[in-house]
Amino acid sequence: MKRKSFIYWIIALITIGSLTIGIYFNRYKNQPYIESRYLMDTYITLKIYGRKPSEVKQAAQAVFERLKELETKSNRFGDQNSEVVTINNNAGQKEVPVSEEIWKIITASLDYGEKTSGAFDLTSGPLVDLWGINGEHPQIPSPEEIKDTLALVDYKEVETIENNRSVRIAKPEMSMDLGGSAKGYALDLALEVLKEHGIEHALVDLVSSTAALGSRPDGKPWRLGLQPPRALKGEANLAIIPIENQFISTSGDYQRFFEENGVRYHHILDPQTGYPAKGVTSVTIVTSTNGLDADILSTAVFVLGPERGMELIEKLPGVEGLMVDSDLNVLTSSGFKAENLKSYH
Ligand code: AMP
Ligand code: MG
Repeated sequence: MKRKSFIYWIIALITIGSLTIGIYFNRYKNQPYIESRYLMDTYITLKIYGRKPSEVKQAAQAVFERLKELETKSNRFGDQNSEVVTINNNAGQKEVPVSEEIWKIITASLDYGEKTSGAFDLTSGPLVDLWGINGEHPQIPSPEEIKDTLALVDYKEVETIENNRSVRIAKPEMSMDLGGSAKGYALDLALEVLKEHGIEHALVDLVSSTAALGSRPDGKPWRLGLQPPRALKGEANLAIIPIENQFISTSGDYQRFFEENGVRYHHILDPQTGYPAKGVTSVTIVTSTNGLDADILSTAVFVLGPERGMELIEKLPGVEGLMVDSDLNVLTSSGFKAENLKSYH
């Protein structure tokens, strides 16, 4: 009897010991490397899983370097090395050769200009400046100012010359603004770099847009909490969105706005009216295509509004969306996956 219980003890100890060692190594393997930096006007957080810490750190470094380059190229203010500044300074004059990155963003933006009948307009620059919503001193413009400025917003005035990869804005004083698209493209570049470094599981988070490379290391989808656009009875999330090899982007009237006389003026402008787009509080797009699509579409669908926006989502393969309209109804496209989806009513 004594001997038997001794053996049991030995077996129990060995089991606990090997379990502990197993958990320890597993945990080590599954520990992500996390690093954040402020770039492209937002916090960028990388959460990377890999085999060796040194490899993972190197991958993160390379991602940030690549995104720094994109920031320089796509900036609309100040930086004379910016391709966008050069294009805008040459509006009405000559064509400007651009990098592959800027070419991709511009051509995709023009494409969505067509798909949305101009609801997404790459040349919203003058209108964005008039409202000053992205700056320190936003203001409500006069109707005359809006009318005059709208004459400078038309994506059809952008010429792309494929054989020498250059771009020209046909009319003087027009300008392009990549605020609705560049962050999404940053996700695509980040994933490209991570894959080059052999990474298979990572999350790239730019606050309003996120990319999931692969699944979580345990094979399950990543689960992202979706911020409610308005307070929701003490709930932190409007829903949990599972994503795997997908991109998610949210555009909301709560992200950048000012208020005057109780009216909220936000940063997503309707090129038809010249005023902040109405009818929607937030749009979340999930795509399996790329980050550029997700970012452009969240802005575009916001401008299109609930009906036309949802129609577009349903038409595009690999695209799903969730919308909170201005009456705080939560609408989802037919294939949208959400866990624990809440409602305002
Ligand atoms: P997002 O936060 O991705 O929805 O992008 C909003 C940003 O896109 C704004 O801050 C502007 O820089 C720019 N923008 C605003 N309205 C439009 C529009 N109708 N089409 C394209 N870009 C826009
Ligand atoms: Mg966008």
